[in-house]
Parts: sequence; C-alpha cells; structure tokens
Amino acid sequence: MSENETQRKIIHVDMDCFYAAIEIREQPELAGKPVAVGGSSGRGVLTTCNYEAREFGCRSAMPAFKARDLCPDLILLPVRFDLYRKESARIRMIFAQFTELIEPLSLDEAYLDVSHLRSEASTIAWEIRQRIRIETGLAASAGIAPNKFIAKIASDWRKPDGQFEVREDEIHDFLSDLPVNKIWGVGKRTAARLHEAGLRTCGEVRQRSEVELVQRFGKFGRSLYRLSRGIDERPVNPNRERKSLSNERTFRENLTTVDEGLVELEKLIVELQEDLSGRHEDRTIRECVVKVKFEDFQITSAQRGGDHVDAEVFRELLVEAWERGEGKSVRLIGAGVRFRPLAVDGVEQLEMF
Ligand SMILES: [Mg+2]
Repeated sequence: MSENETQRKIIHVDMDCFYAAIEIREQPELAGKPVAVGGSSGRGVLTTCNYEAREFGCRSAMPAFKARDLCPDLILLPVRFDLYRKESARIRMIFAQFTELIEPLSLDEAYLDVSHLRSEASTIAWEIRQRIRIETGLAASAGIAPNKFIAKIASDWRKPDGQFEVREDEIHDFLSDLPVNKIWGVGKRTAARLHEAGLRTCGEVRQRSEVELVQRFGKFGRSLYRLSRGIDERPVNPNRERKSLSNERTFRENLTTVDEGLVELEKLIVELQEDLSGRHEDRTIRECVVKVKFEDFQITSAQRGGDHVDAEVFRELLVEAWERGEGKSVRLIGAGVRFRPLAVDGVEQLEMF
C-alpha cells in the first residue's frame, strides 16, 4: 500500500450453512440433527449441510448417495430458493444500513466497504452480525481486512458465528503458511502447477521473483506475486455480480453443417449444466443464448427467454443463428445463460412477502 493511500476497511460477511440454517429455523425440531439441503436437482449433490452433518464427513457438492453412506440419519431437504432469496434480501437490507458499497458474491456472501465509516471495522462487523442474528435468527461469520482477498480468507477463520480481523501489519504473517489454493483465482489446475513448482504456501511464492512467476505462470504470475504479499486493490463493486454464464469452443477446423454444430452444442450444454449446478444454483436464469462465429469472424447470437437450460431451446437457437451465415462455415459456438440480478430477485421476493 502506498503511503498516501488511506487504509481501506473491507468486511466479508459469509452466512453459516445458510440454506440449512434457514430450514432449521423454519423447522426447529431439526435442530441438533444432521441436516442437508439439495440432492434433488440433476446430479443429486448436496448444496449445503449443517455442522452436525459435517461431523460425519458430509460436504457441499457431495453426491447425496455418498452423504447418506457417511451419515445414514442425514435429513435431506429439497432446496427452496425462493425462501433463501427472501432471507438474502433481508440481510442485504441490513448491510445497506451500514454502507452502500455492497458487492454480493452469492445469496449468502458479500463484501462490504466500510472505509468511510468512523467506527472500527471489527465493531461494525460485530454489529452487522448481531443485527442479522436478531432480525433473521441466523448466524454469520465475518472477515475484516484492508482488502477483499484477505477479508474473504479471514471470514473462514472463526466459523461458525465468529469473526476475524487481519490488520495491515499482520498480513505478512497471516499469509506465510496459507496454502496456495486459497489464493484468489487459483483453482485445482493452477494449484497443481504451483505444487509442481515447489510452491505450497504464499510464503513460498513470496520467495520467487516476479520475473520468474511471470515466466512460469504468464500474466497470472503477476497476480501471484502481488496476492502472496497481500496486495489486492480490487474495489468493492456493487455492480460486479455475474450477469451471465457461458461456454464456448473454437474448432480446429471450421464446421460446415448444422448437424456437426448440433453435436458440439450437446457437449457445451452438458458443460453449462455442470457449471450451473456447481456454483450458480442460487441464480435465476432469465434467458438462454447461443453464439456463433462464422469463418469471416462475424458473430451473431440468438436468445430466448427461459428459466432453465432446455436442450431443445438451445438446438433451435443454434439453427436460427447458423442460418444467418447463409452457408458460411463456423469457427466457434457458444452456449450460455443470462441471469436475473440477485438484488432484484430478492427485492421482488420481499415485496411478495
Ligand atoms: Mg456461506
């Protein structure tokens, strides 16, 4: 941080077992029992489970049959996103009483920038958590730090129902032993490459020069260099929530018939469904989109309103887009969905309430 920059105060609030906690609040007789939500959608995985279920080894994204093996008494409830959205909207209104700078990451997680407030950030975080507790009966954890990267990690440190602050002068020590897979943007593949390079912790990444990291990891090497030092200047952006999700594929050889295109489209639809069921189950789809890029690099897209991934709709959209090429071959196909805004969802639900 440069000296003339004022210290930022970022809070990452993360609800504890959000969906399961709401269900238990609604059905108090479930308290103390192992409870999970999910399992009924396409691939039958758990969306959330409570700590009682976690003690048996149950985890979110785990197949329901495996969870039942681990915990035969598991109470598995269907997801009720309408209810969760309503709670999410209530929580967001609590945030809004403290700051306008709210960046929701999902229904149960958000960054708040409270730099402009006079109170200590940890006091604000504590108050927010109390308000959530009083108004919704739900527990939240919080991380408090000078930036988003550290705040998000810190919110995990005292879970459940706790908070943890990392001050500017504590960042170095805080990161020293942090596993590289906790670094923002490091997924499984990048983590494996980092391990191959002998880099298991942020402390180890810090010992490499920026030049070396860029040589090994390309542009991301620069992020690694900075994040391993706890440098993260990303602002809390109230408008940053994901608006769409899509997959696309460029073909080694252009496709010449729509039938070839339909074969490729099937794979894209499967990938899209996988991505959606993994991480975006809390979002409402408003539109399906197919994109086509022709041999002359002209791009066209066809879309239709809808609230789920309907393979038939995607096929029709592909044919529609394809025909606009009037016989041109196709370099790329994309399939995706556009989401309704999270906040709007919540507000609408709240008004119905
Ligand atoms: Mg959470």
